[in-house]
Amino acid sequence: MRSPIPDYLASTLSDVRDDDSGAVADYIPELAKADPDRLAVAVAMTDGYLYEAGDTDVEFSIQSISKPFVYALALADRGFDDVLDRVGVEPTGDAFNEISLEPVTGRPRNPMINAGALTVHTLVGAPGAGPGTRTARLLDGLSAFAGRRLHVDEAVFESELAHSFRNRALANMLRANDVVAEDPLITVAGYTRQCAVLVNTRDLAMMAATLANKGVNPLTGEEVVSARVVRQTLSVMSTCGMYDGAGDWMTRVGVPAKSGVSGGLIAALPGQLGIATFSPRLDAHGNSVRGTELFQRFAEEMNLHIMEANSAPLSVIRSTGVIDHGGRPLYVMTLQGSIRFAGGERVTREIVLRTPPCRRVAVDVSRVYTLGEAAHLMLRQTLERLCADGHRVYLVDADARFGPDFAGDLDVGLVTSLDEIRPV
Ligand code: GLN
Repeated sequence: MRSPIPDYLASTLSDVRDDDSGAVADYIPELAKADPDRLAVAVAMTDGYLYEAGDTDVEFSIQSISKPFVYALALADRGFDDVLDRVGVEPTGDAFNEISLEPVTGRPRNPMINAGALTVHTLVGAPGAGPGTRTARLLDGLSAFAGRRLHVDEAVFESELAHSFRNRALANMLRANDVVAEDPLITVAGYTRQCAVLVNTRDLAMMAATLANKGVNPLTGEEVVSARVVRQTLSVMSTCGMYDGAGDWMTRVGVPAKSGVSGGLIAALPGQLGIATFSPRLDAHGNSVRGTELFQRFAEEMNLHIMEANSAPLSVIRSTGVIDHGGRPLYVMTLQGSIRFAGGERVTREIVLRTPPCRRVAVDVSRVYTLGEAAHLMLRQTLERLCADGHRVYLVDADARFGPDFAGDLDVGLVTSLDEIRPV
């Protein structure tokens, strides 16, 4: 049987295909040669399964979509303090190449505008690494996000470098403010090379899926950056990724995203998927016209908006009740799904308000697939109090995934099934 998903993607592409508004970026001569009619979409799940439609084989330079990934690499290489000292996290509402720095500190306001991205570029690799080592680290890092070896398009690199007057102005300002310590031309050349890395729409979807998957590439299993770095990166994408169109994007589409002037667009929905589109004609903000249109549709039709509540907390308690277990009563509470703070509160409240009516209590977590830290702590303290109140408490954990965390000083019996509970 054919999956309906690629058909859905293909039909969405045909819905927007005829929109020829906007224009291909031409301030970089090599980009002006792009075929404006190309159109592609790829969706990568966090287990690496990929759906695609349209021109997904066409390669193009990554441009500004490199910015969040290089930001993540810099955070991983230099730590949060070093990076945040030099580049802020506030949206500007300005265009991507605006010549703007914070008045007092001279810091670029965020890593998604060029001033910030030029600075972040210099923070990749070990302190003092020369441009060669830095570029190598950067290519390795971007390749690890994509799960395949990526290369620089030398023609795009040369073409942009020859016309990089505005970025040179920015780099000179950064140098003058001591935000960057090296020769501004070295910074611009390195950053321009970073923007000239070739990708196709599949690569971008997989890179986004790596962000959605807490920094672990779903194909290779490699942890490219930590979950904490991903959280920082996705936050900055949410507020600054779409430049002066960021507010409009966040309200209408509602997924952390990043655009590039060659027509790519990515979004990552934490825990679920990465999506990438490619269509070279851009709007006034420098974001792909049909890409934006596609994402607006996906957001509605695939319910992507991160501000849309899901009702998971309500359903974490699958059942409660007293059973006859070896001739004696046993109170069994079966939990399920993903339990975070609100789910943990639900469980705790149930136990507190409806005290288990017999001495023995079994909490079955075999159907729970994630237990957040806060929920874990709450459950642990609740079980501790049940014990203190004289209950004999068991944690049923068929696959022994959570059990070990409940061991130690807690007087809870760890079992893999109800049968293991002795009828005492
Ligand atoms: N290399 C481009 C520049 O610096 C990237 C801009 C973008 O994709 N928005 O101008």
